[in-house]
Amino acid sequence: MSKIRVLPDHLSNLIAAGEVVERPASVAKELVENAIDAGATRIVIDVESGGRRLLKITDDGEGMMRDDAVLAFERHATSKITSAEDLSAIATLGFRGEALASIASVARVELITQRDDTPAGTRVVIEGGRMRDVKDAAHPRGTTIAVRDLFFNTPARRKFLRSEATESYHLTNLVTHYALAHPEINFTLTNNGRETLRVAPAKDLRERAYQVFGAQFLDGLLEVNNAVSEPTETSFSLPQIARVRGFVSAPRERRTSRDAQFLFVNGRFVRDRLIGRALSEGYRSILPHGVYPVALLFIDVPLEEVDVNVHPAKTEVRFRRAAAVADAVREAVRAGLASAGYVAAGETRDATAVDDVGSDVEESAAAIETTTEPINAARPTQSFELRAAPQQERIGFVPPEPAAPATEPLHATKELPTGAAPARAIHAAEAENEELRAAIQFPQTATEVKAFPDLPPLDSAIKFVREVAVETLSSNIRPLGQLDESFIIATDDEGLLLIDQHVAHERVLFDKYRALEASRRPESQHMLIPETFDLTPAQAGAFDHVAEELESYGFELMRLSGRTVAIKSTPADLPASEARNVLAEVLDTVDSEKKGAARATLRDEIAASLACHAAIKVNMPLAPEKMRWLIDRLLTTSSPTTCPHGRPVILRLATQDILKGFHRI
Ligand code: ADP
Ligand code: MG
Repeated sequence: MSKIRVLPDHLSNLIAAGEVVERPASVAKELVENAIDAGATRIVIDVESGGRRLLKITDDGEGMMRDDAVLAFERHATSKITSAEDLSAIATLGFRGEALASIASVARVELITQRDDTPAGTRVVIEGGRMRDVKDAAHPRGTTIAVRDLFFNTPARRKFLRSEATESYHLTNLVTHYALAHPEINFTLTNNGRETLRVAPAKDLRERAYQVFGAQFLDGLLEVNNAVSEPTETSFSLPQIARVRGFVSAPRERRTSRDAQFLFVNGRFVRDRLIGRALSEGYRSILPHGVYPVALLFIDVPLEEVDVNVHPAKTEVRFRRAAAVADAVREAVRAGLASAGYVAAGETRDATAVDDVGSDVEESAAAIETTTEPINAARPTQSFELRAAPQQERIGFVPPEPAAPATEPLHATKELPTGAAPARAIHAAEAENEELRAAIQFPQTATEVKAFPDLPPLDSAIKFVREVAVETLSSNIRPLGQLDESFIIATDDEGLLLIDQHVAHERVLFDKYRALEASRRPESQHMLIPETFDLTPAQAGAFDHVAEELESYGFELMRLSGRTVAIKSTPADLPASEARNVLAEVLDTVDSEKKGAARATLRDEIAASLACHAAIKVNMPLAPEKMRWLIDRLLTTSSPTTCPHGRPVILRLATQDILKGFHRI
């Protein structure tokens, strides 16, 4: 007897459900997409317990006639495409015809729908893929689908669902995305009877973003729109393949993940590495590696330029001319930054302004990544974050100056020219002479730097440099000075040490914050004027969950009306300007699973985030006593050689290896 058989429908639906229905938010995604495809102007979403118990969506779209309402639950049943050609130009969000079948195979579903042109509405009940009932029912024009008890018949999958808080967070984010992509639609989301999001139809994206995120968020954003740019003042050299519009953050807004990047291709929310990278490239020389901007970007390309049939959940796309799309995104973002004065206007892709001190900043993403490695932090791909506080305003943000000639390369004059000159590399900690210090640290022009004779290529010590093992650390560490105002150069009995000042301090603070847990007596600093912080809808849901923990670290927070929080006090050591970054980061960690296997506790997350934002930055001069203090404190921590994120804190070049390098042994 042959072994192969065609699987029955209920089994293939279950298999498809494995890909399409990951969690309540993915059910919501499919149902909201269907409502949008049906032309709804109003979408109401009601959930109970994060969508696990109930997820109900009502729309006022075109509705379905009875036959269609039944057929809709068949696998590969769709009204959206009819031929293979249709697949190459998909204008609707759905097209695979498998969402309803998949959802119905793993939940109890009730659908009620009504069209304008039929006398009666229809109610369909289907449970675990079995049709239970079809009959007349009253409903205004449109459709209501209630999905109950998700995964009731697949206990293994139910176990994979996360806490209610996590599922709610995902679901709220999902609805937020669609609300942003469709300003014309009225959205309401209620979770356990509490209204999480309600937005009336808005006239454009700006108004919708304001409704969703609040005025403060919008204030910090720069507009991106490559359709309105004058060809003369921008650098579009290509025929424009993609319309790029939306908002990106000013460089002071920093995130340690891409979570606050909302990317849409032809109105579809996608996770796209290509666009993410292009976005980061737009920020080259403004944001360092590993720090991400906030973005809300809508990329519209001709339908035939993009393949959306890549993944069952339709969250990935493939561009026919990917490089051209990436260019368009990067240049649009760059132009947005330029018009706000963050980069020189008129700067083109090929002229990287500061680049005359000997570093080749290439265009490729790979090159960007390597040139922004910490060890090269002094290269012109200099970051905003990596600045000492007092210089930050002056260097990072250069407000548009009407008097300045448009061609003036802002970087070259206002940003520190850094890099090649060996004399600049090591600042003697003892350099008391102010004049000398100034000359070393702030050479006026790039040409002055160039005045030093260039050395022929030197051997690299890279093969000898090692991370330091804790056992080999003695307390006999003597700081000598700083490299690039970022790394403490020190010696110990075994050789030369390089200590990353930021992560070293991060480790010190992390241990300190973690110790608070035992004492429960946080030190705080009171804000003279409380700062306010606008929560996103998803963060608002997470707020109650984390507020108490945050307070145990010294935050004093007060929920004001709506989604606004007042920050009345902040933890000791944390600069007030960083309080909001910490809050945003911690609220977003409610989505804990993305942290991977070694899922840290919420407290670890808070302590790590606080430590990171409170720690001294790189590119900050340190007095000898401060270096001494930092090293002494570091040595008393739980793990002096690794930072809370697992990165090395100290590198060593052993005397033995130095001798080898010089061919002395
Ligand atoms: P797809 O959206 O890929 O076509 P689905 O399984 O999501 O597949 O839906 C199947 C069909 O059911 C759709 O093509 C559409 O005709 C119909 N449908 C689903 N939801 C709605 C709705 N809310 N309003 C009107 N028609 C709907
Ligand atoms: Mg669909």
